[in-house]
Amino acid sequence: MIQLPFAAVSAPGIEVAYMASSALFVLGIKFLGKVKTARKGNQIAALGMAVAMAATLWELLQAGKYSGISWAFAGPTLLFGGLLGWRLAVRVPMTAMPEFVAIFNGLGGLASLLVALAEVSLIAVLANDRLQLPGLPSPAGLTLSRHGGFDFAIAVALSVVIGAVTFSGSMIAYAKLAGKVNKSRFGPLGSTPTNIVLGLLTLGLVVWGGFIAETPTELWIANGSLALVSLALGVGLTMPIGGADMPVAIALLNSYSGIAGMTTGFVLNNNVLIVAGSLVGASGIILTQIMCKAMNRSLSNVLLGVMGDTGSAASKEGYTKVKTTTAEELAPLLDAARLVIIVPGYGLAVAQAQHKVRELASLLEKQGCAVKYAIHPVAGRMPGHMNILLAEANVPYEQLFELDHINDEFAQADVALVLGANDVCNPAANDDPKSPIAGMPVLNVWNARTVVVVKRSLSAGYAGIRNELFQLDNSLMLLADAKKAMEDLVTELKAQ
Ligand code: NDP
Repeated sequence: MIQLPFAAVSAPGIEVAYMASSALFVLGIKFLGKVKTARKGNQIAALGMAVAMAATLWELLQAGKYSGISWAFAGPTLLFGGLLGWRLAVRVPMTAMPEFVAIFNGLGGLASLLVALAEVSLIAVLANDRLQLPGLPSPAGLTLSRHGGFDFAIAVALSVVIGAVTFSGSMIAYAKLAGKVNKSRFGPLGSTPTNIVLGLLTLGLVVWGGFIAETPTELWIANGSLALVSLALGVGLTMPIGGADMPVAIALLNSYSGIAGMTTGFVLNNNVLIVAGSLVGASGIILTQIMCKAMNRSLSNVLLGVMGDTGSAASKEGYTKVKTTTAEELAPLLDAARLVIIVPGYGLAVAQAQHKVRELASLLEKQGCAVKYAIHPVAGRMPGHMNILLAEANVPYEQLFELDHINDEFAQADVALVLGANDVCNPAANDDPKSPIAGMPVLNVWNARTVVVVKRSLSAGYAGIRNELFQLDNSLMLLADAKKAMEDLVTELKAQ
C-alpha cells in the first residue's frame, strides 16, 4: 500500500470539531428543505464550514501535521480567497447567478484535482530526494508497497478524474449558460467516437494510477496524464448535451463536485471533507433524479446527448397568426378575471420584474381574483430559480404550485399570464415527437380561457425551438420587457 507517513491521525479534539461541523451540515440541509427555514439552513451550514475550517487550520498549523505551512502563508491566502469569494458573491447580479453557481461547482472540482496532484507531486519529490521540506519525513520514511484495496492511490486517481471532469464540464456549462460556446473551436471534442476513446483512456489511466503504479514517479506520470485526459473528457461529455437537457447536466456536475470533495477527503484523510463531500454528492444525485423526472428523460439519454443540441438560433419567421396586445387592452380582461395563473420563466429573472408581479398580483387579489403561480421544475437557468426569485419579492409560498399540482387547473383559469417563459409551456413537447423537448412535461397554459404571453419578441427560448403557443386562437402576445409590461399593467388596472 502506498502510504503517506505524514498523514497523521487527527487529535481527538479535532475529530470532535469535525463531528460537530458534520452535524451542522446535516442540520443545515434539513432546514434548507423548506423555503421558510432555508435562510437559517444556509447560516447553519456556513457555521459548520467555519468550524471545519478552524479545526483544519488548527490541526495543520498547531498539531504539526505540515509544519512547513505557517500562518504567514495560510493567513494571507485565506484572507485573499475569502475576500474574493465575498466580493464576487455580493457583486454578482441575480441574473448571472446560474453562471456563478456553475463556476463555483467547477472550482470545487479544480480544488480536488489540485490537491490530489499536489499530494502525488509531493511524494514524487520526496522519493526522488530532491527536496527536504521542514517537518516532513525523509524519503526513507515512505512506504511504497502495494496490497490493493481502497488505498491512497485509488483515492488520488478518483479525485483527479472526478475533479478534472467536474472542472472542465462546469466551465462548458458556464459557457453554455452564458451563450458563449463556439463548438467549432473544440474540434472533434464532444463527438461520440472521441468520447469513447477518451473514456477508455481515462479508465486505463485510473487502473494504472490506482492499482498498478509502483513507484512515486509512475504514480505522478499516471495521474498527470489522467488529469489531462479527464479535462478533455469533461469538455467532451458536456458539449453535446442538448440545450433543453442542461438542467440535468448542471445537477449532475453539482453532484460530481461533492464526490470529488469526498475522494479528496480520502486522499487527505480528512473526515469532515468525506462527510461534506458525500452530502453534496448525494443531494446532487437526488436533484439529478428530480430533474430527469421533470424532463421525462433517462440519465443515459441526457449523457449520450441523444436529443442533440438544437442551438439557439431558431427562426423568428413563419408566425403568421400572432395577435399582439397592449397593457391598455389587457386591463379589462384582468379586471374581470376570477382566477389568474402566473407562469414565471427565465425572462422574468432577466427583467427583474418579480416585485412588480407581486404588486400586480396584490391588486388582482384586492379585486377578489385568485392568483396562483405555476412553477415548472426547469424554468429559469438553475434548479429552484423561480422559487428564489419569487421569494425575493415575498410572494407567499402557499401560492406556488408545482407542475403536477397546477396543470389541471389551467382549464378553470380565466387568464394564464406567461411571463418570460417559453420552453416550459411549449406544446411541441406533447405534439411533436421529433422536438428536442418531446415528452418533457410542460405547463398546459393553452387550456386557460386566454393566454397572455409577455416577452420582448418572437424569438426562441433556451432550447432554441419554435413555439406554436404564440399563435394559438386564445393566445395574445404582449411584446415588451416583462418589468415594463408589469408596470404598465399595474397603472392600467389602477385606472380601471
Ligand atoms: P426560456 O429560456 O425557454 O425562455 C425565456 C424567454 O424569456 C425567452 O424566450 C425570451 O424571449 C424571454 N425574455 C428574456 N428577457 C426578457 C425580458 N427582459 N422581458 C421579457 N421576456 C424576456 O425560459 P423558460 O424558463 O421557459 O425555460 C427554461 C429553459 O432553460 C429550458 O429550456 C431549460 O431546459 C433551460 N435550462 C434550465 C436550467 C435550470 O436548471 N432550470 C439550466 C439550464 C438550462 P425574448 O427574447 O423574445 O424576450
